[in-house]
Order: sequence, then C-alpha cells, then structure tokens
Amino acid sequence: MEYKSIWELNNISETPKLNENLEVDIVIVGGGVAGITTAYYLRNSNKKIVLLEKDCVGCGVSKYTTGKLTYLQNGIYPNIAKTRSKSDALEYFNSQKDAIKLAKEIIYKHQIDCNLTPIASYLFAYNDTKKFNEEKKFLIDAECKFEESKTLPINFPCKKALYVHDTFCFHPLKFINKLKEIINSSSVHIYEKTLVTDINKEDEYYIVKTSSNQIKCKKVIITTNYPFFILPKLLPLQLKLEKSYLLEATKNNEDNFLALSTDKPNYTFRIDNEHFIFGGYSHNLSKEVNYQEKTQEVLNDFKNHFDNKINNYWSIHDVISKDHLPLIGRLNKTHENVIIATAFHKWGMTNGILAGKIISDIILNKENRYIKLFAPERKLAIKGIVNTITNDSIVGKAFIDSKINKNKKFYKNVMFKNENGINIGIYTDENNIEHKIINRCPHLKSSLIFDEEAKVWICPCHGSMFDVDGNLLKEPSIINIKYKKS
Ligand SMILES: Cc1cc2nc3c(=O)[nH]c(=O)nc-3n(C[C@H](O)[C@H](O)[C@H](O)COP(=O)(O)OP(=O)(O)OC[C@H]3O[C@@H](n4cnc5c(N)ncnc54)[C@H](O)[C@@H]3O)c2cc1C
Repeated sequence: MEYKSIWELNNISETPKLNENLEVDIVIVGGGVAGITTAYYLRNSNKKIVLLEKDCVGCGVSKYTTGKLTYLQNGIYPNIAKTRSKSDALEYFNSQKDAIKLAKEIIYKHQIDCNLTPIASYLFAYNDTKKFNEEKKFLIDAECKFEESKTLPINFPCKKALYVHDTFCFHPLKFINKLKEIINSSSVHIYEKTLVTDINKEDEYYIVKTSSNQIKCKKVIITTNYPFFILPKLLPLQLKLEKSYLLEATKNNEDNFLALSTDKPNYTFRIDNEHFIFGGYSHNLSKEVNYQEKTQEVLNDFKNHFDNKINNYWSIHDVISKDHLPLIGRLNKTHENVIIATAFHKWGMTNGILAGKIISDIILNKENRYIKLFAPERKLAIKGIVNTITNDSIVGKAFIDSKINKNKKFYKNVMFKNENGINIGIYTDENNIEHKIINRCPHLKSSLIFDEEAKVWICPCHGSMFDVDGNLLKEPSIINIKYKKS
C-alpha cells in the first residue's frame, strides 16, 4: 500500500521553463484543469498567450481527484438555495449539466483517449435522511429524471438512494495532458517549472514576475486553485478549504457506479472498469488538524466493510466559497483585466472545464449565461456572511493553536525547537535522518502541521504545502521554507 495518487502518466514531454522576458496579451497562471481548459478555448484567438505552471501541467489538485463528471454533488443544491436563492441553485444545476456536455464535446472532437465512461451516479443516505430528502426535493423541482433504490449496487450501509444515468468518469490526467498537446501545437506557449511570484499593475499593463523573469501583459488569468495574492479582495477571508481522503483497492465486483453520501462522514465511491476508489471523510482543513488520524480512520473504515486489497491512498484539499458557488470571472472593477477561477467546491472537473469556457467567453466578448452567476464580485447574502464569520474564527483558532504548538501531542517523528531565534520543525525519517524546516508559512505566517502519512507540512489556515525539506508543493505560498544553518 503506497501513499500516492493513482493518476500517473509516463512519457509526458515537459515544456521548457521560462528563461526570457516577454510581452504578450494574456498570461494564464496555473496549469490544472481550469488553466489548461482556458488555454484550450483561447488557443485560436489570435492573441499572444502564455501559460505559466510552477511544477508540471496537471500536478496540482487535479492529480488527486476522483475524476467524476457528475451533477449529483452531495447536497450542494440545497446549500446554494440557502446561501443565495433557489433560482441560483437551479442555474448551478444547469451549469453542471452543461459542463459535462463541454467535456464530452472536447473529448469527442479530439478523440481523446481518457477512458471516458458513462456510469450511473448515486446519491445515498446511510443514517440521517434529512439532507438526502432536501436534495431529492430539489431534483424533483429541477425536473431531473432519477430512479430510486433502497440499496447501493455494492454491499454498504444505505437507507435511501437515488441515481441518474447521464454521468461519466474519466482519467483526469489523460484529459489534461491531451489538451496540453493540443495547446502546444497552437500559438499558445506553456512554460512549466515556472513559479509566478508577483503581479503588479503598471498603467494599463500587468507585470507578471517569475523567479527569474517578467512578462508584460494586458490581461492575467489566475487559475492556481487557491489564488496566491492577498490584496486586492482579501480572498483568504472569503475562502475555506476542505480536505478529503481517497484510497484505491483491487476491484472484485461486477457493478460499476459512482456514489456519494449526503450524511457525515461523507463517503465517495468510484467503481469503474479498472478502479475501486473509496473515501470522503471531508473536513474543514483548519478545524480537524490531526490529518494522519483521519487517514487511518478512512483505511480502517474501508477494511471494516470490504476485503479488497488497498493499493494506494492519498488526500488533498480543495477550495470552498462561503456561498458554495465557484468564483469565476473578473476580479473587480479596478482590476477588470485580472480574471480568477477558484472555489470549485471539490467539483473542479466540471467547474474547471466550465471556467475555461466562461473565461474565454469573457476575453472574447462572447455571451455566456453563467458569467453573472459565478462573478467574483457578487454580494454575499446573509447566510454567506455568517459562514464567513464562522470560518474566519475557525481559521483564527487554527492559527493560534499552531503558534502555541497545541498539536504537537499527536506527532511520532516530529519535534519543534528554537534555533538561533528561528522556530524550526524537525521530521526524523525512517532512516533516522533529520529534515528541518522553518516552521512559519510565508503566506500569512501561520505555523505548520505535519501530516505523517503524506509526509508533508501543511498550513492549517490556507493550505500551503511543503515537502519534508521545505520545498514548496502547493500554493498560496510562493516561497520555500528551507532551513539553512547560518
Ligand atoms: C479528494 C478530492 C476528490 C475530488 N473529486 C472530484 C470529482 O470526482 N469530480 C470533480 O468534478 N471534482 C473533483 N474534485 C475537485 C477537483 O479535483 C478540483 O476542484 C480541481 O482539480 C481543481 O483544479 P484547478 O485547476 O483549480 O487546480 P489545480 O489542479 O491545483 O491547478 C492549479 C495549478 O496552479 C499551479 N500553481 C499554483 N501556484 C502557482 C504559481 N504561483 N505560479 C505558477 N503556477 C502555480 C499549481 O502547481 C497547479 O498545477 C475533487 C477534489 C478533491 C479534494
């Protein structure tokens, strides 16, 4: 059993690192599903475009997904109806169906071999049926055709279930990397291993700075999953993070299906021709910070229900907005030429593809019915404001707890000490080698949590991730936390 996502590809040709200053029309920052789909839709626009990716295309959250293309998204519609309105929830429902259509269109047009498989999606309740009933009522009002059942196709606790047929799953990295190939044969340039460190406005232009160069451009599109800038807009106060856990086991059953539970802990299944993926257990990244304990809970829960051999397990966090709707579009009136796409609510396979289409339509001045729904400038309704205050106090508590090392009790191989006035974290690996990091996230100065299963340092407030030697793995930080003895 290995701690590793199953979505891996060999023989991917890397594009070069940026090593010159440029002047272009558009810079896209981030090569996940959102950034790459945006570049795909803009590739024939006759604009000079570059995409900058700090690691490799598809190496971010998109590599750790379950890879479902579904509009049954465990209870999201009643939540949107509460934080915004029922009509917004209905429009979001339509947008997800349209996103699936867009994905299919791209896949069929280019005959992308990404294991696209039609597969039924189940929504089920195994204990408390309140949320399930709310979702069912919403689906009836949305005139969604579904069937009902009292069981899942596999032996797992279930009180009530409903399912639809017009949903899919795919291999996310095969999809993303084929788009990369298509983009590479257009005039858009992709630069990998190129970290964007700053963006500044100069007159009507933006200067996008990387570790060693800069690009002058008219528009910037930020698809970095969690936007790395703090001002303008103070996004860290408007977003929260949820961490989820997945495992892949040897498949030994006939039925293929996707499933999500509406009650907590939430469960997710993807059982297709090749994979048996199980997991869920989503929680606020800032609230429950004993990440290795959570991992063990999921593994034990699986073993209590199934005999299948576990091959891989992994976990990752994704961004959530206070009103449950993604933020896609122009940042604000002052920065009309900065466009963001974030807060996909763990539904970035559909929302990332949709973001690509919406952003390209904004750039090309085309109409798109979803521009208003997802506009980052929308005002929060009362429920959204309450969610903001609640989450900010959770993040505040995580910040203080990490500072006083309240979490150190659950570490086996980690200790903290002060060396030359610097707070450092030390992880001792299985070969007894010590790995030291500066225990302070460069983003907003929180202390870090070590996940002993993943062997990564995680900021419990905004989700920056670093390896055991302090190399940056995940934004919003743009700086390493390597400790060098002076
Ligand atoms: C456990 C789990 C399961 C999920 N399952 C599903 C599912 O079944 N279906 C579904 O629709 N969604 C699912 N999701 C959600 C989906 O995977 C994500 O929403 C989506 O992958 C996010 O894509 P992205 O492009 O925003 O981010 P990413 O894939 O993270 O891409 C962002 C890219 O930006 C780069 N970057 C960051 N900072 C910089 C910088 N400063 N300079 C340059 N580059 C930078 C990163 O390296 C990264 O490659 C799941 C999420 C989780 C957590």
